[in-house]
Amino acid sequence: MGGHPVLDFVNTVAWRLDPARTADRVQGAEAWARWAVATGLLAADRAEALLRTEMTDSARMEAAIAALMDLRAILWPVLDALVDEEEPPAREWEALRRVLLLARERTTLPPAFPLRWQSGTDRFDDLRHALALRTEDLLSGDALGRVRRCEGPGCGWFFLDRSRSGTRRWCSSQDCGNRDRAKRHYSRTRQGG
Ligand SMILES: [Zn+2]
Repeated sequence: MGGHPVLDFVNTVAWRLDPARTADRVQGAEAWARWAVATGLLAADRAEALLRTEMTDSARMEAAIAALMDLRAILWPVLDALVDEEEPPAREWEALRRVLLLARERTTLPPAFPLRWQSGTDRFDDLRHALALRTEDLLSGDALGRVRRCEGPGCGWFFLDRSRSGTRRWCSSQDCGNRDRAKRHYSRTRQGG
């Protein structure tokens, strides 16, 4: 729905801006592995192998998932600042710098053009490093100006606006867009009656 793996990643929490409805949609190692396959970050056979390896060390796996959650928590305010056209928050920006440095250190640089860092698929931590590299792509590339936040009250989902006009407002016209139309219809009807 986000149109970019990093936006899909931060969107794994629904109703982020409405504490009463906030729902973490992906929980636990297997769910994250399935998610990584669905978003194309991990091949299905690699996901199975990774789960088998990492299940043998649950402490390491839990630490990796906690670090993944930390990255998600860093990205929310950074992306909020982006769409609100504000300066990135200093604390999260510094945390992001560290995440990016670590990702560089833990990824490889295959000898090929164009130069491209490549994350591994052997550890759960590799998923975080892969997302870190994609974050750098997103925040430094052409897509930057197309990042939007859904205008649905409480929604908080991010997406890449690929519409020609660049005026997409909703995560989904079926969800938040529909709710908005229904609400406006309701208030029109009320005013009319
Ligand atoms: Zn929405």
